[in-house]
Amino acid sequence: MSKPSAASVLEHLPGLVWTTDETGAATYANRHFEAYTGLEWEPSGRIQWLTALHPDDTSSIVERLENAQRTGSHLMTDVRLRRSDGEYRWFAVSASPLSDSLNQGYCWLAIGSDESSADGHFPNSDGRMQRFLDALPTQALLVSPTIELEFANQEVLRWHGLARGPHPLRRMDNLDSDELIGITGPLKHLLENGEPYAGSYQAVHGSGNLHWIDVRMVPIRDAGGRVARYFVLQNDAQDLRHASYLLANEVKILEMVARGAPTADVLHKLCRLVEDLSTDCSCCVLELSLDRKYFRVGAAPSLPDEFKEIFDGKAVDVGLGPCASAAISRKKAEVLDCASDGLRESAIGQLMLVNDFNACLAIPILSPYGNTAGIFAIYRHRHVAFTPHERQVIDRALLIAGISIDRTRHEEALLKREAQLRRSQAQLVAAQRISSTGSFTFDIQRDENIWSEEFYRILDLDPTLKPSIDAVRERVHPEDLELFNTEIQRGLSGDGADFIFRIVTTDASVKFIRGLARVTHEIEDYPVFMGTVQDITNSKRAEDALRRGEEALTKAREDLAYVSRAMTISALTTSIAHEVSQPLSGILANANTCLRLLARDPPNVAAASETARRTIRDTMRATEVIKRLRVMFNRQIPVMEETNLNEITREVIALSSKDMRDRSIAVTVQLDPEVPTITGDRIQLQQVILNMLLNAAEAMADIEGPRSMVVRTHSDAVGSTVLSIADVGIGIPAENADKLFEAFFTTKRNGMGIGLSISRSIIENHGGVMWAEMNNGPGATVAFSIPRQARP
Ligand code: ADP
Repeated sequence: MSKPSAASVLEHLPGLVWTTDETGAATYANRHFEAYTGLEWEPSGRIQWLTALHPDDTSSIVERLENAQRTGSHLMTDVRLRRSDGEYRWFAVSASPLSDSLNQGYCWLAIGSDESSADGHFPNSDGRMQRFLDALPTQALLVSPTIELEFANQEVLRWHGLARGPHPLRRMDNLDSDELIGITGPLKHLLENGEPYAGSYQAVHGSGNLHWIDVRMVPIRDAGGRVARYFVLQNDAQDLRHASYLLANEVKILEMVARGAPTADVLHKLCRLVEDLSTDCSCCVLELSLDRKYFRVGAAPSLPDEFKEIFDGKAVDVGLGPCASAAISRKKAEVLDCASDGLRESAIGQLMLVNDFNACLAIPILSPYGNTAGIFAIYRHRHVAFTPHERQVIDRALLIAGISIDRTRHEEALLKREAQLRRSQAQLVAAQRISSTGSFTFDIQRDENIWSEEFYRILDLDPTLKPSIDAVRERVHPEDLELFNTEIQRGLSGDGADFIFRIVTTDASVKFIRGLARVTHEIEDYPVFMGTVQDITNSKRAEDALRRGEEALTKAREDLAYVSRAMTISALTTSIAHEVSQPLSGILANANTCLRLLARDPPNVAAASETARRTIRDTMRATEVIKRLRVMFNRQIPVMEETNLNEITREVIALSSKDMRDRSIAVTVQLDPEVPTITGDRIQLQQVILNMLLNAAEAMADIEGPRSMVVRTHSDAVGSTVLSIADVGIGIPAENADKLFEAFFTTKRNGMGIGLSISRSIIENHGGVMWAEMNNGPGATVAFSIPRQARP
């Protein structure tokens, strides 16, 4: 049988059907319309059907039509249409837009009371209307004003999963009014407002699941205008809802991914979406570590905590059921009936059974790059094949989960790398600051300069300044400019440059800079000129200071050596004078004898004269020697002044510190700040202390173990200042104790044995005493004390 044309179907519909163009005039009308209205076709091929409207209904329908055109929606209402004999009848009218674009024409369908009997009952005489409604691919119902079901078409029965029956009344018996309970709400609304209704409600589908239904209802009125029944047209909107729900949620979740929401939140939403759109379904997402060896629970919103515990942080092991199998094989893994599966012995099997889950489907989640990022697991109470819709939802969830996990992994890796980069940058900046080293690179090819923070700081350049060699040149000391230019040229030509130049900073101070530069191939694959500048001003100054210090030190040492020598000679002179004074008195006695010889009669002039001359000559010579020596020791004449022994001690320690370091001796200094000032000769006292220090150091020369000495000052009971130096050296044997201070006593191979004797005489000159004693432990202590009041 050939398919009927659309026009022939419309001709046979038991209602008035017409289409209108954008002007609102009819461009097509079926034969029922023509017969009922008796309206004529205009020469333009139109029928001005609005003229058949009851004048009271015209304005409302025009307004509704405009409204429907604006929103592109259906229009449903009930209106009175004029019959060809001039009588008005009520019609339930529905108008559907002919195309998606606005302002287009409409297809109108009017089912009117003309088709029903005068009392509003559905005409069943020839079953025409029934057959028509049964043929509709949509659910059609007629409901009484008291909300009782009068008629339901085959589509309604099919939807409810009920047997198809030929007799309308039998169909009613089949339908439990409870199943229609959802419709009563909208119907009540209709009753209360008397308005057509378009909306949705939920009803139990033949499968037992709740489905959304889109419903449209119009009242059908009898000849008197009373509502005789309601005509209900409805469609299962579950798939549509499903699709739009999926789409809306998918968009939301993708937005979350794009916003960088935490993966856990995204996965949670995905699980919920699959659970919402699939029946009997509890989901979880297990993320896999990069080496695919460990599980981490990404989300499991509706599973008991025990499921999370069994997987979270655990190694991927076959004992963990289909999830582990899917992770290992990278393929879908499924358990259809846990109770009869080998899995029941395992912990996860037990857990499934306790929670009444019999089936589990585990699917690998692939990242966009094809890596297995995790597992999507679906636990169900019993195994039922997924519907195409459910499969679609799961596929979408897998895709988004893959993107989300992958994105997070990339972000985590990126953050880690960024943090590392930031740390190493901070380290570089700190290292540059600590070492006062700035760096620069000059990309010769791109004529691009990059300077480090420290570079700007060292060269005292404005940090916003664009790097250029000329900007550096501005700072270079005029006297070093030529050197600078030559060295930069040398560096650029490939030889390394290493030179020191001066810069003048904005506050006119001069800085010494060491510049190192060379062309390197280590940064890019083409040559880059790079180098460092180091502020060496401080070390340069320290070096100068050191040099000056060393000069001063050398001078001080020389002075001290001079004093030492002078004093040694002085001491020698004293003994020489002592030694010489005896013969001198002899000489003088001889001279007297000589005179007496001369006084004899006759005087032995010749002999006496000769003796006298010799004697006088020798005496003169001896005197001359002593005189000359005395001249040499002019400096030794003590200069007595108010002085502080602590200061003197510090000076000597400072002078000898290098020497002590060279000898690896730790010197502990304990100076009592309260010691009174004394009157004394600084240089002589320095000489004494230096001699004591050197003796202590030499006493420790051959010992094993650490060498140390304690230099200490304090006031004793009578208010004298005591200075002592205790060492850990060889000490003083008892038999030597009395001899130390004797001139020319020494136990050293190259010693002179006069240091202590001179020291003691100096101290005694200051009215003090000097002594040496053995320590309780190793070594000896040599000390002296000087009274507060110097000897008058
Ligand atoms: P020299 O140092 O030239 O020997 P000194 O008069 O300074 O002359 O010292 C005399 C001697 O006293 C030394 O040779 C040494 O035997 C002894 N002596 C001095 N100080 C110490 C000391 N701190 N420990 C042990 N012996 C010492």
